[in-house]
Amino acid sequence: MSLNIVVAVKWVPNTQVVNIDPKTGTLIREGIPSIINPHDLNAVELALQLKERYGGTVTAISMAPTSARAGLEFIIGMGVDRAILVTDRVFAGADTLATSYTLSKAIERLKPFDILVFGQETIDSSTAHIGAQTASWLRIPYIYYVTDVEYLNGVVKVKRKLEKRIEVYELPIPCLLVVAMKSNEPRSVKLSYKLKAKMENCIEVWTNNELGLTRECIGLRGSPTRVEKSIATPSVPRKKQKFDGQDVKTAVKWLVDKLVEEGLKIV
Ligand SMILES: Cc1cc2nc3c(=O)[nH]c(=O)nc-3n(C[C@H](O)[C@H](O)[C@H](O)COP(=O)(O)OP(=O)(O)OC[C@H]3O[C@@H](n4cnc5c(N)ncnc54)[C@H](O)[C@@H]3O)c2cc1C
Repeated sequence: MSLNIVVAVKWVPNTQVVNIDPKTGTLIREGIPSIINPHDLNAVELALQLKERYGGTVTAISMAPTSARAGLEFIIGMGVDRAILVTDRVFAGADTLATSYTLSKAIERLKPFDILVFGQETIDSSTAHIGAQTASWLRIPYIYYVTDVEYLNGVVKVKRKLEKRIEVYELPIPCLLVVAMKSNEPRSVKLSYKLKAKMENCIEVWTNNELGLTRECIGLRGSPTRVEKSIATPSVPRKKQKFDGQDVKTAVKWLVDKLVEEGLKIV
């Protein structure tokens, strides 16, 4: 049996180069390039490994503005067969509830699917909610922190890595796997695959005309989350005191005395 694998990828601003405007407290997005969420590359790698081992197809799905087409071309360059860009102005302003609802409705259109593969979290919002919420909308089992997967006769056997132990679970298909960050080495892009994305039109665009979702459940209207205070850079008050001596022992005593003055309790 070949597997119908779906992998979810998010198009995110590269937060490693994002700064915060100290006056408005908002992200300065101008000139910031977007990338595929780095942890989603681990999800793509796992999906491709499953296809190589058990046969089948890998379809990538992303809810994003149209600029995400570049990211999906990148993913096809890694070897994904098909990509769906879910994009429409009515999806804008979605919190995790509306995002996972929209994704689940789009994924339902890809039925029959066997294994959904999600990244652990994103670098721009990092709630790590979307995998669990999407599985809940679809009423399928899910598991987080997956590092290894085997498949046999309709059952997926996964290893997941917790802080001090490895757990092994079996899930019936269809199921959703959330891949542990850095659990594999994402492969590089092949130019021939990228050309395929351009030549064969492997990216399909689905708007709400295709999904037909009611406005109360999507975008800003379907999002109960309200951010009460915008992001702020914490100010770290410093007393700027400096030890002027040379001797290490005296320096340590000086430092400990200062900390005790500030309220440090030595037990
Ligand atoms: C407190 C808070 C309030 C927020 N309020 C708002 C708001 O009012 N308006 C607003 O616009 N946004 C808001 N957001 C951002 C919004 O919730 C997220 O952008 C979105 O729901 C995805 O969540 P995430 O990035 O945390 O995904 P995570 O749960 O961290 O992502 C896990 C995985 O899910 C998949 N995934 C996530 N998003 C997508 C996607 N779009 N397409 C495909 N796969 C995906 C990826 O595989 C990803 O690795 C808020 C976020 C927070 C933390």
